[in-house]
Amino acid sequence: MNAARILLLASLAALGTAQSPLSKEVDAVYPEAHALYLDIHQTPELSSHETQTASKLADRLRRLGYDVTDHVGGTGIVAILKNGAGPTVMLRTELDALPVEEKTGLAYASKIHAKDDAGHDVPVMHACGHDLHMAAIIGTATIMAHSKGSWHGTLMLVGQPAEETISGAKAMLDDGFLRRFPKPDVAVALHVGNILPAGTVGIVPGIYNTNADSIRITIYGKGGHGSAPHTAIDPIVIAARTILALQTIPSREVKPGQLAVVTVGYIHAGTKNNIIPDQAELGLTVRTNKTEVRKQVLAAIDRITKAEAEAAGAPRPPLIERYEGTDFVYNDPALAERLRGVLESALGKENVVNEEPITASEDFSYFVEQGIPGFYFSLGGADPQKFAEAQAAGTQLPSNHSPLFAPDVDPALHTGITAEVAVLRNLLNGASTNGSR
Ligand SMILES: [Zn+2]
Ligand SMILES: [Zn+2]
Repeated sequence: MNAARILLLASLAALGTAQSPLSKEVDAVYPEAHALYLDIHQTPELSSHETQTASKLADRLRRLGYDVTDHVGGTGIVAILKNGAGPTVMLRTELDALPVEEKTGLAYASKIHAKDDAGHDVPVMHACGHDLHMAAIIGTATIMAHSKGSWHGTLMLVGQPAEETISGAKAMLDDGFLRRFPKPDVAVALHVGNILPAGTVGIVPGIYNTNADSIRITIYGKGGHGSAPHTAIDPIVIAARTILALQTIPSREVKPGQLAVVTVGYIHAGTKNNIIPDQAELGLTVRTNKTEVRKQVLAAIDRITKAEAEAAGAPRPPLIERYEGTDFVYNDPALAERLRGVLESALGKENVVNEEPITASEDFSYFVEQGIPGFYFSLGGADPQKFAEAQAAGTQLPSNHSPLFAPDVDPALHTGITAEVAVLRNLLNGASTNGSR
């Protein structure tokens, strides 16, 4: 950053954000972005099935003059706007929603049901806020398309499917993402959540979040009559012991202070109260942020699960499958520091906070692992008043994936668009908060 730029940023920061040129530009695109938010919120689609969602984004981006390629890695889209010489900067949004029944009571709550990949009818909700990310990216895309004098280079907007199953980024890469499109010099993404109040953003230089591993365990027993347990080997009892024993991995095996989470998110077994089933299935998510702790926890799950089955005299060892996994998202520290200044200028210094690494996970890491420096930051989503009340009471607001998750769209969406445009203009060598139309 040169001295003139630093002076410019400093003077803009001193002016604050009151009706800056960027704020006016965001106001101009806000109604359409908000309408898109309400629409997508009420029409959520499950991972890898985001057909309508992707085409809504693609249509809008085409109308704005972006060169859009559909069906990249399934339902993914890549939209490119070339604007002279300069770097290629990627901004990514996810497309997918979750099998969650919305209970927010909002007038625009989702009532959608769909068939999941196992053929079950499930409720569908944007319980992770990806609808807000999509609305923001369209607002940002509109401003960038209307202010080509404020930046130069190549803007690449990516609509990534299936983030929730940690498979969409890989699918896009496997479908020739790096071969078919210019390789980004930088990749940017944000995520909304209730960890921060709406109107703010959070930055974590270095390790942003955690490694995630999804594990499916099938415990084998011997079926029989519920009245005659001595003739059976009960997999439900083995599962119950296993679940409790697994909780001793973070509490008794991992060194205090090291991050480790082992959650059993489901247990499926049995059909009727008087039948002992012959198997039970557990679904686990495991979060760590160090390679050696990850290895330790995965090995302990293997050891404990097998030993519990053996202790119960199971007819055969359990099947332990790691069916999904992703590494932590790494924020290039120098890039994060540079963009902190940009965000402080655009949003006001008090609205840019330092965050602790979080225990969520993301397949954005797949892009970063291709040698693309990444900047992944948090967007505050909590109603500021509810946030303050929860802080005072020592309680937690509903987290992402909760049926009650409801980001405070205004101002979160406004802040999201402002932050994205400021970051993109800086990375694309333009003025960070001045636009021309
Ligand atoms: Zn999520
Ligand atoms: Zn998410």
